[in-house]
Amino acid sequence: MAFTASSGSPARPWLLLLAALSLVSGLAPAARALEPAPLAGAIDLGAGAVAGRLIEWRRHLHAHPELSNQEFETSRFVAEKLRAMGLSPRTGVAKTGVVAVIEGALPGPVVALRADMDALPVAEEVDLPFASRATGTYEGRSVPVMHACGHDAHVSILLAVAEVLAGLRDRLPGKVVLIFQPAEEGAPVEEGVAGAERMVAEGVLDSPKADAVYGLHVWAGQETGTIGVRPGPQLAAVDSFEIVVTGRQTHGAKPWGGVDPIVVASEIVGALQTIVSRTLEITREPAVVTVGQFQAGVRSNIIPESARLVGTIRTFDEGMRDDVHARLRRIAESVAAAHGASAMVKISRGYPVTANDAELVGRMRPTLERVAPGRVLEIGKLTVAEDFSFFANRVPGLYFMLGVTPADQVATAAANHSPKFEIDESALVTGVRALAHLTADTLFAGSPSR
Ligand SMILES: [Zn+2]
Ligand SMILES: [Zn+2]
Repeated sequence: MAFTASSGSPARPWLLLLAALSLVSGLAPAARALEPAPLAGAIDLGAGAVAGRLIEWRRHLHAHPELSNQEFETSRFVAEKLRAMGLSPRTGVAKTGVVAVIEGALPGPVVALRADMDALPVAEEVDLPFASRATGTYEGRSVPVMHACGHDAHVSILLAVAEVLAGLRDRLPGKVVLIFQPAEEGAPVEEGVAGAERMVAEGVLDSPKADAVYGLHVWAGQETGTIGVRPGPQLAAVDSFEIVVTGRQTHGAKPWGGVDPIVVASEIVGALQTIVSRTLEITREPAVVTVGQFQAGVRSNIIPESARLVGTIRTFDEGMRDDVHARLRRIAESVAAAHGASAMVKISRGYPVTANDAELVGRMRPTLERVAPGRVLEIGKLTVAEDFSFFANRVPGLYFMLGVTPADQVATAAANHSPKFEIDESALVTGVRALAHLTADTLFAGSPSR
């Protein structure tokens, strides 16, 4: 979709004048908050001007997806576009990440904006002229690759925001840190490849020191152009676990000759269900414990030596997270011991809870309402996870879900990560405007309180 002048606000030069006046006269932030937002008209004009290229960029990236930590061409593409905007991107951050800073002409706070860049080992089933035919290497195998989570949209949206704000840098206070992050998609943390964690460790929020961080995710099943957000916990923490039950191998006809690990592991699967249903105070926060793999045995009449369970844990509170881990460990070990077997339990901590800073959400809600009048939704918690949490745990963060599904397809849309995942591109410019307006309003309002 083209962003037409009729759907955006016309330029209002008097606003710029007002903004400039308020800065030189040193009005208190509270007084300025009552005035129309500075640069709002210019941002919308800029978003309209870049809308066509935004779609081109997204289609190019969609046709050329790359897996986590292999985003070499994507990062080259991003750096090249940023240089064309007069910026000086740093490449090779956290392996394939790119970071650039827009320096406003006036002093002010620092806002970080984040886009993740990686794709998934999924064979695209959407009939598009720019559908992916790419392959990559995943766990040693050649696999088809698709932007099935929409990170192609995230990259192109942030590039468009960069262009809009870089074009206004002479009138902007403060600085904007543009973060193009690799490896959001579930690269196991124990392998040390979670992109956000690595970028934070490499100091992307430290110099210049960010005062707030914003990010978004395109979300299938949410109506095109709507903005879904909630204060506090929004996405779950994710941890994975592995339980290996060791019994004693015996003939299937003589179970008394050994210890059957399949029966023991089955009891463990059943007992794990009581963590959420019987022990957690679920009125406080929800939680999920799922066993997704149960492996044991090779034939009907051999009781094997061991059985293996692998699963995932989702929580929204750090205390409950630790509690679930302890209970899971105790149940597995105790049930095994009760039967004369043993259980080796390994829990790998993944991404933390993605929680929005409640004060920041409250303060920026009017901005989002201005971007999408009547289309800002207070959404429920989502049990998916995001490594944006590593940024938001460091500085106040706001992360929102951008609806990308036409109204008549909301009930039937293929979810993110599906081979049929599809984006209504007309939503993307709303993402650009939201991030650009959030940034400008934060910069003009002064340093957010911690
Ligand atoms: Zn994803
Ligand atoms: Zn994603």
